[in-house]
Amino acid sequence: MNTLYKSTRGGESNIQASLAIIKGLACDGGLFVPNEIPKLDKPLEDLLGLEYKDLAYEIMKLYLTDFTEDELRYCINNAYDDKFDTKEIAPVVKKNRAHYLELFHGSTIAFKDMALSILPYLMKVSAKKQNIDKEIVILTATSGDTGKAALAGFADVEGIKIIVFYPKDGVSPIQKQQMVTQKGDNTYVVGIEGNFDDAQNGVKEIFNNAEFVQLMDNNGYRFSSANSINIGRLIPQIVYYFYAYTKMVASGDIKMGEDINVVVPTGNFGNILAAYYAKNMGLPIHQLICASNDNKVLYDFMNTGVYNRKREFVLTISPSMDILISSNLERLLYKISDNKESVINNLMSSLSSKGEYEISDDMKKGLKDFYGNYASIDETYDAIKEVFDKSGYLIDSHTAVGSSVYKKYKKDTGDNRKTVIASTASPYKFTRSVMKAIDESYEKYDDFELIEKMNELTGVEIPKAIKDIIGAEIRHKMICDKDRMKETVKEILSLS
Ligand SMILES: *Cc1c(COP(=O)(O)O)cnc(C)c1O
Repeated sequence: MNTLYKSTRGGESNIQASLAIIKGLACDGGLFVPNEIPKLDKPLEDLLGLEYKDLAYEIMKLYLTDFTEDELRYCINNAYDDKFDTKEIAPVVKKNRAHYLELFHGSTIAFKDMALSILPYLMKVSAKKQNIDKEIVILTATSGDTGKAALAGFADVEGIKIIVFYPKDGVSPIQKQQMVTQKGDNTYVVGIEGNFDDAQNGVKEIFNNAEFVQLMDNNGYRFSSANSINIGRLIPQIVYYFYAYTKMVASGDIKMGEDINVVVPTGNFGNILAAYYAKNMGLPIHQLICASNDNKVLYDFMNTGVYNRKREFVLTISPSMDILISSNLERLLYKISDNKESVINNLMSSLSSKGEYEISDDMKKGLKDFYGNYASIDETYDAIKEVFDKSGYLIDSHTAVGSSVYKKYKKDTGDNRKTVIASTASPYKFTRSVMKAIDESYEKYDDFELIEKMNELTGVEIPKAIKDIIGAEIRHKMICDKDRMKETVKEILSLS
């Protein structure tokens, strides 16, 4: 079986995986999707007991069909090594009848590491396969976690430069410190006066600007994207849903073949889309529970079929989910429209001209796999406190959105199936909101003092990722206006 890729907007088709990874975004502004989501090529039973790397190989080989076994195993072995602080890579922790799938054991303690520790290798191999002789420039917008995880993944990778734009006032102090202290001569970090959507739009505009791309080409560069629009981000994320399932079977929590639910705290719709792909490949998932914060554009969409970005942007305590344009939703829309490019073109042009779109009744039926709800800031605090009080387990403010929405789901549906909650960040990354949830009196400390307090409260060891940035040299001080991102890239790369 050969899996080929095409653009959701119809402008490109029959593209090899390696080329889709190098390009990041299709020429027509669409996202690359497989012609067909591949099915698992063996019984699920055969995956039982596999360790993470071997399981990753079994899943990823179905998508990266132009990679040789050696090439793919090289990527996997270099990604999931002792950068992770546990051999399990993605442990499943059972608390209060929910199963938390801990995706934060990589080098930046958020789930973005799951994909961004392998993407640089996928890109390196892809560039070689495609005979690319230009220097690759990774241009990325971040709501906080992608930026650091991409910087960590790409730092000092030969033949690649990375430029990260983050909303200057939209990330946590610890996230900011992680980024501005990033080492590596090929790394550039820029704060913008604007929010995440501004940053993401700016990046998309640069990508789609033919003149600018030509200028890059003249100077020996070509762009690629480490954002979750890159299919090379999505594919590695499918793996851990299979992994969680096999672990739950192994521990006797579920029987082989039993349906589970999956709860995902969602922003750009990448992580939950990976779970949807896993379901389509044959993983027994009943409901995909899409958990939003106060920026509940996806909740409204799931319930009405209308996607409307014209609303106030709310800064919440789960900043990595503060997003009004969920890019990866386009891939779901494509699937539920029965792969109709014309439909996607209409919806996307309506989104950019009117700020909204509505899907057809037929497409709405395709949303039945999903349940959407949201948690307010107060409900998020409550969820952190409740889980901690009941089980002594401290979750971060993103995972807490998932936990809170899961509670609403159970109340709404009475469904008691075993459920996996994607735990997307370590509480050490968001000490302020997490500790405030436990006790208001912690408010008098700063984010860094709270690291110690959290350690005293939980006894959980302070992750190396946190120890390393405290007191580290600040290497990146660039700030730019949201309308000057293109000029900034020009300056950084000395384009003429
Ligand atoms: C990025 C991120 C999310 C949202 O994931 P998407 O794939 O963008 O939906 C949730 N939680 C944390 C901690 C994140 O870093």
